[in-house]
Amino acid sequence: MPRTSSKASADRAHSSKPTPESRDIPRRDFLRLAGLAALAVTGGVEHVYHGPVGRNHLRPPGAVRERDFLATCIRCGRCAEVCPYRSIRILGPGKGLHVGTPLIDAEKIPCYLCMKCVEVCPSGALKPVPAEEAGMGLAHIIEDTCWAYNGTALCRACYDICPLKDRAIKLERLKPIIVEEACVGCGACVKACPVTPERAIYVDPPKP
Ligand code: SF4
Ligand code: SF4
Ligand code: SF4
Repeated sequence: MPRTSSKASADRAHSSKPTPESRDIPRRDFLRLAGLAALAVTGGVEHVYHGPVGRNHLRPPGAVRERDFLATCIRCGRCAEVCPYRSIRILGPGKGLHVGTPLIDAEKIPCYLCMKCVEVCPSGALKPVPAEEAGMGLAHIIEDTCWAYNGTALCRACYDICPLKDRAIKLERLKPIIVEEACVGCGACVKACPVTPERAIYVDPPKP
């Protein structure tokens, strides 16, 4: 009896590990499902692309688009190390795929556009752009609460602090006006605004 051949086939049946190709679903669907499972773990597509980035919570200057940032940043932390203002904090555990990536909270310490971080980034996650192309977001003034607009005071703190004064922000009849084409979203104006508890000016990051 050719026992060896039936044993060999039995051995093959028991020893071969399942692969995506050997399962009932095609490999392409397997990979897609695996990807969706990973997204479910981290909270879904919105969480992966937006994550901790949002109003007044910004990536450093020169950052690639948010949907590319997680795959480009190598979590080396060099941008945070070199920042003389300690504007950049590195996200810790609990931030899912965003752990180890840099973030700026403009209400606490904004970016002052010294551009040291873009010089040291080795991965291309922060592109070596000039300050005028930092691309961190766009400032918006809330006229109802802004002292210059509602008559509370002759405030111009946002205008005075702006590193791109008279380009990104101008005064018209003693009221600040954001110039959309020139504001880079550094957030210095947010930090300087005296209105509390919610500032009368905020920065929204670019679309992911
Ligand atoms: S540009 Fe300068 S101030 Fe702004 S985050 Fe980079 S190192 Fe810090
Ligand atoms: S207006 Fe505000 S966010 Fe825009 S560049 Fe000036 S300080 Fe930065
Ligand atoms: S600093 Fe705040 S309150 Fe003052 S002018 Fe600017 S937005 Fe208005």
